[in-house]
Amino acid sequence: MISLDPSWLLALPLLFAMGWVSARFDLRQSRAARRSGEERLSLVIAALVTKKREEAATHLLSAIRDNPDDLSLQQALGVLLREKGEPDRAIEVRLSLLARPGIDEELKQQALLELARDYLAAGILDRAERTIDLVIHEQPTQAAHALRLSLMQRLSRWPEALDSAEWLLGQGHSEPWLERARFHFLMESGRAEEARGIQADHPRLMNSAPAAQGLFICSGCGFQTRRHGWQCAGCGHWDTLALIQ
Ligand SMILES: [Zn+2]
Repeated sequence: MISLDPSWLLALPLLFAMGWVSARFDLRQSRAARRSGEERLSLVIAALVTKKREEAATHLLSAIRDNPDDLSLQQALGVLLREKGEPDRAIEVRLSLLARPGIDEELKQQALLELARDYLAAGILDRAERTIDLVIHEQPTQAAHALRLSLMQRLSRWPEALDSAEWLLGQGHSEPWLERARFHFLMESGRAEEARGIQADHPRLMNSAPAAQGLFICSGCGFQTRRHGWQCAGCGHWDTLALIQ
């Protein structure tokens, strides 16, 4: 028969109390951490609203120091750094985030897409392309195809731009700009017959290009040029240049 030392019985209330105290302590700690995290995020938002990006980044860095496991804060810091015009630092933050073991798959895909945007902002187009392809291979999303469309258009790689435009249209995105982009991508790819099916009365098909001389302004971005083109060199939109003089 097991004999129970009565001293254990005396210790029980103490152990119980210690457990209670430590649970209370943890609760207080987490509440304090949560409060300080919330306060820091309020400071980040206040700085962003007043366009003080440097200050916002400082508060965000403090929030990350307090909550090193909250990867969404690091994701936000990367976006902030890129918007601040520091894509190289954004890339560093993103790569360290992606190197974290056990990173959630959804966050990983988001981080990869943001990394592609960082590379674009830094002008490292080949890495941007590889990163976008990686995202599309793993999980084709509208955001990834929209980014690929914009990059392929920038590189004048029309068949690939067309491929992404058609993917987006296939997902039910029938915005006029996308239809217009598809029309021009087909024309640029030498597929005028298919383009005709979209917009048969387009001046580009009817060989009646607007006057080659004069001052043109883009209705999208205000870019001005003396050379007419179907695509605005300022913002990349199609059919937005109008003759003003
Ligand atoms: Zn424009």
